[in-house]
Amino acid sequence: MTRVLIEGGYVIPVDTNRVIEKGVVAFDGSTITYVGDGSDFDRAQFRAERTVDASGKAVIPGMVNTHTHLVGAYIKGLTEDVPGKANSAGLYKRALPVASRAEGEDLYWAALTHGMEMVMTGTTTISNTWNDEKHTAPALVDLGARGILSEMIWGTDTSKLGATVMDRPWDTGMVARGLDNARELFENWHGKADGRITTRISPAGPGYCSADAIEQCRDLAASQGVGLNIHIAEVPGETEFVLKQYGMRPIELGQKLGIMGPNTIGFHCVFLSDSDIEIFASSQAHLSHTSFHVPKRGYFPPMEKVYEAGVNVSFGSDWCSNDLWKFMRFGILIPRVKTGDVGMLNGYDALRMATMGGARAVGMADKIGSLEAGKKADIVLVDLETPWCNPIYTPNLITNLVYNANGSDVTDVFVDGVQVVKNGEMTTIDRKATLKETQRRAERLWAIASKTWG
Ligand SMILES: [Zn+2]
Repeated sequence: MTRVLIEGGYVIPVDTNRVIEKGVVAFDGSTITYVGDGSDFDRAQFRAERTVDASGKAVIPGMVNTHTHLVGAYIKGLTEDVPGKANSAGLYKRALPVASRAEGEDLYWAALTHGMEMVMTGTTTISNTWNDEKHTAPALVDLGARGILSEMIWGTDTSKLGATVMDRPWDTGMVARGLDNARELFENWHGKADGRITTRISPAGPGYCSADAIEQCRDLAASQGVGLNIHIAEVPGETEFVLKQYGMRPIELGQKLGIMGPNTIGFHCVFLSDSDIEIFASSQAHLSHTSFHVPKRGYFPPMEKVYEAGVNVSFGSDWCSNDLWKFMRFGILIPRVKTGDVGMLNGYDALRMATMGGARAVGMADKIGSLEAGKKADIVLVDLETPWCNPIYTPNLITNLVYNANGSDVTDVFVDGVQVVKNGEMTTIDRKATLKETQRRAERLWAIASKTWG
């Protein structure tokens, strides 16, 4: 089917804050050709080969997750409640010992499972960062998602890290291997699967690799003409380590190394000073806000100042939970509790961050992030005939949707014009068989890693 018409639904294009009741979205192949109320749409000329009835549903752009580690399928529920006060004990004691042991096909199956969580809840673009991305790439192709893959360049043994560890033995061999993998990934995967798969470069972060390694990553990204991602101002202890090592804060170090700019996404960015936020704003670097992830660790970035400064914010899930509906709600509510300012961010702002904010961050604002003629047909249908979204008052539908709909209300998902979810079920892969195989691999990894759990 190349020419598809979606009609009868509440179309939310996210170009501006508007809802088109009984709207029409048409696409031909992978490209949207019409979005509107249908009054100026020539049906005879379009000659739809398939018509999708979207009545009782919202039609929204596919969401963009700007930061995840799909390997996190193996740590679901293991890290979230590890005790400690505003620390990252769950990361060091549980997550890294399990995730670092996943290799080869383990990475493929984790990516299928967590990728499936994202696609089935309305995320169509997945930006993943981990090592050995060559094993993850085929999973995103098999899922039918739009994928952005970044080889994570580590420069130290993660088993030695902790919030109070102020020394890092840097391992240049590890960096060289990561850069080789990144070069190979670019050659084999950048622009593949009809352009659905692209690559970026991801130095793990100033707490995980040296300034020299970050510079090498910067230069490789520039030579490939791709963007760069970095974990920065992420965890307690990182700022202290970077201050001791370099005499400046992590974001200041990023600026000095020339990586703060419009082609860079900062992951997490929790521990930000006012001047760090100014660097973000003036450099036009993007922020991947892990709003439902970092509160599990007992902290949250000063988002009220980030929004005030005009920084482009998108949502990243990191790992464990990848349903961006949760991230939208936490993104609105936690700064509201911190400041008491109910007007700071509304439902539309959160949906815009989950779609256009992400598209801008990954450098694809001209292709994805909103429903507009000429853009890619990445389209999500959400069931509104639920008690949690009813009754419906059209002018406030976006707010209703963001506060009350759930990822599991997503019924149909198109990526690049291809339907990957139909009536709430995957069309591209076998959901149950995938879960079973990932469970089997998870149990093997837990059996090994649990021997060292504190
Ligand atoms: Zn991360």
